[in-house]
Amino acid sequence: MKNIRNFCIIAHIDHGKSTLADRMLDLTQTVTAREAQAQLLDNMDLERERGITIKSHAIQMDYVLNGNPYKFNLIDTPGHVDFSYEVSRSIAACEGALLIVDATQGIQAQTISNLYLALEHDLEIIPILNKIDLPSSNPEEVGDQIIDLIGCEREDILLASAKTGEGVDKILEAIVDRIPAPDGDDDAPLQALIFDSVFNSFRGIEAIFRVKNGTIKKGDRVKFMNTGKEYDADEIGTLKLTKFPQKEIKSGDVGYIISGIKEAKEVKVGDTITTKANPASSAIEGFEEVKPMVFAGIYPVDTEEFEELRASLEKLQLNDASLTFEAETSAALGFGFRCGFLGMLHMEIIQERLEREFNMTVITTVPNVSYYAYTKKDKEQRIIVNNPSDYPDPAILDRIEEPYIKAQIITKSDFVGAVMTLCIEKRGEIVGQTYLTSDRVELTFDMPLAEIVFDFYDRLKTISKGYASFDYHPVGYRQSDLVKVDILLNSEPIDALSALIHRGKSQDIGRKLCMKLRELIPRQQFVIAIQAAIGAKIVARETLSALRKDVTAKCYGGDISRKRKLLEKQKAGKKRMRQLGNVEIPQQAFLAVLKLN
Ligand code: GDP
Ligand code: MG
Repeated sequence: MKNIRNFCIIAHIDHGKSTLADRMLDLTQTVTAREAQAQLLDNMDLERERGITIKSHAIQMDYVLNGNPYKFNLIDTPGHVDFSYEVSRSIAACEGALLIVDATQGIQAQTISNLYLALEHDLEIIPILNKIDLPSSNPEEVGDQIIDLIGCEREDILLASAKTGEGVDKILEAIVDRIPAPDGDDDAPLQALIFDSVFNSFRGIEAIFRVKNGTIKKGDRVKFMNTGKEYDADEIGTLKLTKFPQKEIKSGDVGYIISGIKEAKEVKVGDTITTKANPASSAIEGFEEVKPMVFAGIYPVDTEEFEELRASLEKLQLNDASLTFEAETSAALGFGFRCGFLGMLHMEIIQERLEREFNMTVITTVPNVSYYAYTKKDKEQRIIVNNPSDYPDPAILDRIEEPYIKAQIITKSDFVGAVMTLCIEKRGEIVGQTYLTSDRVELTFDMPLAEIVFDFYDRLKTISKGYASFDYHPVGYRQSDLVKVDILLNSEPIDALSALIHRGKSQDIGRKLCMKLRELIPRQQFVIAIQAAIGAKIVARETLSALRKDVTAKCYGGDISRKRKLLEKQKAGKKRMRQLGNVEIPQQAFLAVLKLN
């Protein structure tokens, strides 16, 4: 145990986490042949394409310093706000953290909030300034930020280039010298913290754990303390690039267990594994059920594919327990599912995976948060509203509450005014303003979660010319004055286009929404009236004029093949469209409310 070092990497996206991890694997010869792609830790296609690590993984390295062998467990953490609970569990599995900051960029909001998590768990922090090979790097000033933030000495900060490899050897030495070895009792009852799971379609779910106390042995009858379920430890082992089965894993170490579990939801991140024979008296602290934050309807473009969509979602859920779904019907879209996601990135990932891995073509409706409604009849009875069309009739409604977040934004001082204006427009209240350096400010706001679902990110990036980073945490529910804005097409209400909007902005949003829909809905053979209504009151109207020409009329009779090609082209274009009554609506129109500015 005294030769084990467990650590994670805290870094903002693009600051070089994967490149550095890759370099460390090289130096420790964990990767002998360069068999895989450049960035080994990101092993899902989607992750590689987006250049971010979506789910955490762990990898063990052997390292020798002054003749002494060490085992390093690098626990990778997701780098996006949607996954902050998983980050907290990964951090709980470590004694140390490498804090990587891009020396050309400085510290970002996500980095700070993960750093706070690491400090809360008493992790030893090794600050690293990366990308020092770049002429634009500014180790002095960024170093000052780090010193301010964690109160270290300048000589504690390591300078590195993950790209050239410069300074990476010093990082490995610092891991040995500065990060404490794990403590724990090999002979105590088993307590192993699950911080990740991996889906394996042949062998079931692999749970990745860190043993806090005790020893887990192959063949043990184990119990997951929060779900209460029992399994046999069919295989346990350590993880390098591939799995290395072991007979036992002792306290302080990291490993995987395979026990024939078929569904991801049985393996909850944060759960504690113990043994049936000698159970621990308590589970490791900090377990939470992950709750979806954002909901949206997912509908098959082809109504016949409803059951296929259900099967695909079920399969996705097998390896992504944070996805929730239940069947719903929409007057406009027919049968589909109301899905719950951790956040907007998670929602995009699910939609992309449905399309790539399951070949489904789906329509996604406007995402919304989960509201609490209370009626006059029973003012204490909470009604959970995950779909705007379930919003109770205002006549019987007593009050409605919406989820709030604490938003943390770091930007250059030049942009403070613009960021404030945006946040106030988004119903934010400023609760803190701290200068990290003379030029970088950390702003904290209380804001409704719903407001960041609607185009917040993009606008923040635009107004700050990219110099703003953002992170948030839920802080509970607050009462709000919300109304339902409905959209009517030729007087037909389209339920899938309804949204709950704060009263003060509802008319404006209704008007913008009509204008946006007029742009997005293709003209058809007849006039389409697009209206926004609040209750019975029409608050906006746009008219989409009729299309005159018949596109096929251009092809004079004889040219059959050309005509057919044109029809095929139209058909392909139809893929992500939905026929509502006699109006055809493209996918973008369902998300119009997200892009109003
Ligand atoms: P991650 O998102 O934190 O995992 O960042 P990556 O490791 O994917 O790196 C983001 C980008 O920065 C990639 O294009 C890397 O090649 C580049 N990069 C990473 N480290 C360095 C470095 O030390 N110097 C330079 N010049 N580029 C780097
Ligand atoms: Mg990466």
